[in-house]
Amino acid sequence: MKAYIDSRIDDFLSDLEALVNIDSSSDNLAGIEAVAQFLIHRLAAIGFSTRLDKLGRRGVPCLEARNGPEGEMVDVMFLGHMDTVFPTGEVEKRPFAADRDRATGPGVCDMKGGLLVALHVLEVLYHDGVLDQLSIGVCFNGDEEVGSGSSRAWIEAHARYSRRVFVFEPCRPGHRFVLQRKGGGGYTLNARGTSAHAGVEPEKGANAAVEIAHQTIAIQQFNDQAGGGASAHVTVIRGGEKTNIIPDEARASVDVRVVRNSDVAPVEAFFQSLPAHTHVPGVTLTVSGAVSRPPMEPDEGTLQLWHLFETRAAEMGLVIDHIATGGCSDGNFASALGVPTIDGMGLVGGNAHRHDEYVELGSVVPQIQLIASVCKTIAQEKK
Ligand SMILES: [Zn+2]
Repeated sequence: MKAYIDSRIDDFLSDLEALVNIDSSSDNLAGIEAVAQFLIHRLAAIGFSTRLDKLGRRGVPCLEARNGPEGEMVDVMFLGHMDTVFPTGEVEKRPFAADRDRATGPGVCDMKGGLLVALHVLEVLYHDGVLDQLSIGVCFNGDEEVGSGSSRAWIEAHARYSRRVFVFEPCRPGHRFVLQRKGGGGYTLNARGTSAHAGVEPEKGANAAVEIAHQTIAIQQFNDQAGGGASAHVTVIRGGEKTNIIPDEARASVDVRVVRNSDVAPVEAFFQSLPAHTHVPGVTLTVSGAVSRPPMEPDEGTLQLWHLFETRAAEMGLVIDHIATGGCSDGNFASALGVPTIDGMGLVGGNAHRHDEYVELGSVVPQIQLIASVCKTIAQEKK
């Protein structure tokens, strides 16, 4: 298997150049579709049936492919996103470039490289005849970088029909995968009071900004109660219009993160309780928001799957590890459904969402080999 993967390294690099050099910002639907068409063409050539869904009001292109019949459980779901954070025109400014060790360009790490690891793993499995015994479902969405609002239900529907999920976000330097991610969301607090002249008759006012100040401190104190399982931070505060008027309106935005699924309910209960605990007479408080991304929390099934990766990596002489991270990915949605999920199947790289984003080209062959040999074991264990 390794010799075949080695022989395809130049193909991988030219594929990477082709994909990186397509601008596919989350708002560039034509660019996302061009990425999808590149992949559809290749997946069809190895016997996958493919479909390009246009999801949500914006019609976000999302690619679905499978090598088994529709409506049947798949052994592994390959999950990834085709959009990047970089605006249209970025490719012209700094197109794909590579030296012996590294490649750069918009989205090279997050996650054009990962999409191609997925594709090349499938092509290697096809070449080795493994795809006859293993069913794979591919889901590549086009709105991950803007929160997956249009594709979340689509991802969840497919994950429910999957025995395990591999997410092709970047692998971290040191060949570290991601087994755990925080979940998160946001809340907005709106305080409404009464305005009054601040000098002449301030007693006739009900100061909405003071109420938001009290709530901000209450939220900060919640962090101590949460014991590290959840965090809530007021990140934006607005209120008031003129320096001599008691403000009748003020609002605060809150960033929320949760480590475990069991941390979600206490966070929601805390925020729902706030309107009943106002501090300034005459001010009413409304709260909106939710924990919109569940945490990715490794369960027994994920740890078993990880053990399989460790075993195959050790045979290759490859040292791998795993980490927990605060950032969310679409893997959070799959994991929350109880499907064993491992993230970080993409190329080793760093500086995602920055202009100095890169991938380590030395990771191409081992990453494809590792994932393909794990897939091969899964196929063999089915027999
Ligand atoms: Zn990503």
